Amino acid sequence: MKKEDTYTIVKGVLDAYVTANHLRHTVEREHVLRLCCQADTPFSMDTIVELAQKEFISRSTVYNTIQLLLKAKIVHSLNKQYESRCKPQYEIVYNHNNHAQLICTKCGRVSEFKPKIAENVIISRKYSNFTPHHFSLYVYGECKICRRLVGKNIK
Ligand SMILES: [Zn+2]
Repeated sequence: MKKEDTYTIVKGVLDAYVTANHLRHTVEREHVLRLCCQADTPFSMDTIVELAQKEFISRSTVYNTIQLLLKAKIVHSLNKQYESRCKPQYEIVYNHNNHAQLICTKCGRVSEFKPKIAENVIISRKYSNFTPHHFSLYVYGECKICRRLVGKNIK
């Protein structure tokens, strides 16, 4: 799915959420949402702030909008529970492309990888009464940096 198609879908979800919760429709929120859709996945708050400042949108507007997108379940945090050392990383929930991420359970570092083998196993498999369209794959473990830190603590 193209990023512009994703934006059209999530813009509809945001509009419905804003209306249902009696909030104001603002152009700034729509811009922040568009930037989240255009950014590479996963993205950090700082990535969106940097892009938004080029459009004269403040850090607080970006922060508040991402909090709203989290509540509306348009965006979710990939590493919220592990964010002791790494900044929170987010992705659009309505990401309809096959994608896979490695998430470090020690520091919350998130990295993306191409799920070619998984695509062959998951998408080409036959399911009874189900036709798969896309998938998200999260692999939890320890990153290279955290493994190195553990090695140093042992000595
Ligand atoms: Zn780590």
